[in-house]
Amino acid sequence: MPDFQNELYPHLKKYFGFDSFRDQQEEIVTSVLNKKDCLVIMPTGGGKSICFQLPSLLLKGTTLVISPLIALMKDQVDGLKANGIPAAFFNSSQSAEEQHKILESTHQGELKLLYVAPESLQGLSPILKEEFISCVAVDEAHCISSWGHDFRPSYQQLGFLKSTLPLTPIIALTATADKATREDIMAQLKIPRAKQFLASFDRKNIALEVRPAHDRVSQILQFIKQRPNESGIIYCLSRKSTETLVAKFLDNGIKAAAYHAGLDFESRNKVQEDFIFDKTQIVCATIAFGMGIDKSNVRWVIHYNMPKNIEGYYQEIGRSGRDGLPAQALLFHSYGDVIQLQRFASGATNEEVQLAKLDRMKQFSEASTCRRKILLSYFGEFLGEDCGNCDVCKNPPQFFDGTIIAQKILSTIARLKELEATGIVIDVLRGAQNAAVLDKNYQEIKTYGIGKDISWNDWQHYAIQLINQGFCEIAFHKNNVLQLTPYSKDVLFGKTRVLLSKPLKKEERVALEKEQ
Ligand code: ADP
Ligand code: ZN
Repeated sequence: MPDFQNELYPHLKKYFGFDSFRDQQEEIVTSVLNKKDCLVIMPTGGGKSICFQLPSLLLKGTTLVISPLIALMKDQVDGLKANGIPAAFFNSSQSAEEQHKILESTHQGELKLLYVAPESLQGLSPILKEEFISCVAVDEAHCISSWGHDFRPSYQQLGFLKSTLPLTPIIALTATADKATREDIMAQLKIPRAKQFLASFDRKNIALEVRPAHDRVSQILQFIKQRPNESGIIYCLSRKSTETLVAKFLDNGIKAAAYHAGLDFESRNKVQEDFIFDKTQIVCATIAFGMGIDKSNVRWVIHYNMPKNIEGYYQEIGRSGRDGLPAQALLFHSYGDVIQLQRFASGATNEEVQLAKLDRMKQFSEASTCRRKILLSYFGEFLGEDCGNCDVCKNPPQFFDGTIIAQKILSTIARLKELEATGIVIDVLRGAQNAAVLDKNYQEIKTYGIGKDISWNDWQHYAIQLINQGFCEIAFHKNNVLQLTPYSKDVLFGKTRVLLSKPLKKEERVALEKEQ
């Protein structure tokens, strides 16, 4: 075998402009060069591309890159060409003639990298021979597994690659690491002995914060006004929210653009470019945004809505702070979102998995332990000490005896005959005079107005804790009304003490904001 070792650094410098490898890149590159199958788990922005792009330059033949992201292939290929690397893509958007040309140049050994969507692999059968293909890279490899968070049926046929090209190394790459998914990837790609490379998922520079979703828009406006000229991304669940938010920003003189699947290719491209070149400060996007964009100075990511799982959340916040400088991830936690996501999941082929993942996301949002610990343990990493860079660490909750508060909430729920959602329960406690309360004569209820001394937000904070602790529950199937549980009675009769954490005072929150 040729000695590649002396070539690695000169190639890294010449084609990619880097002087050194990051963490495990060199070891991975060497493994691929030694024709070993590999499974690379590295967070978004970690530098996965080099792991197959660099070996492609040193091996004879073409490296096939399987990627689900047709929309990005052109950009990726253009980028490679600009660096002097002969590359092309092959997908259904091309004419037969174009496709033929690509087959021909692979045949001639002219291409180093060929990007292909799994659906289009069949079209490549004339060149799927060991003599033409140097390596197969399966990008976004978690798509192969129904355990993953982004299952794609077209990925499931990829097992044939190993059978067709038994001597060609396969390198599977993903930013998703849970163990079941990992094993599934190796089984399905038929690379049971693949060498696994697990990079650390810790992105210490990203400060984590979760807030209740009350009055999100003003919270976001305030957040942004404190960070003039910083680039950021806001993820929303619906196209409509992206557009509503953008309108709000423009009203406030902030440059923002919406990005979602309803826009045509050109508009999306424009949004992306304006963002990359700092012409647009903020992009409000559905999940389609950010895959593969290479912008190192994104300073913050806000989740206007709750993501459907921790993998997605982690990937999205990972688009901030790629330059290693301090960045912020702010997540708004809302039960309304949870319910909507549950609806989306219901009826899906892997409904149970999706719901379980959503549940973990919810637990993360509600946690009163270091959030980074939860995040990392999800990916199988153990963080010995608290991180010091999340909202829980910066402001550890103080617990106090909240039995009386709990009793007030629970007895109101009982007096409302378990027929009303959290908002009305709080309105009744605070003696609100709105139609929803007065029309039903709730002002006659014994607990009406007994909680005026506590703000609406604080009541919500307490109610969420009672839900988390199982003293009451949301009936998702009955318009989300609050109901009692078998544990409520003990609280109401004074047999159980309830510990609650104090909500942040407004000044504390503002001070914390400034500190960051
Ligand atoms: P991933 O595919 O894991 O999300 P990329 O391969 O797109 O990540 O790399 C993320 C960023 O890191 C890119 O801007 C890339 O140029 C940069 N990068 C990768 N490897 C190195 C390295 N060895 N030195 C410096 N920058 C690197
Ligand atoms: Zn922490």
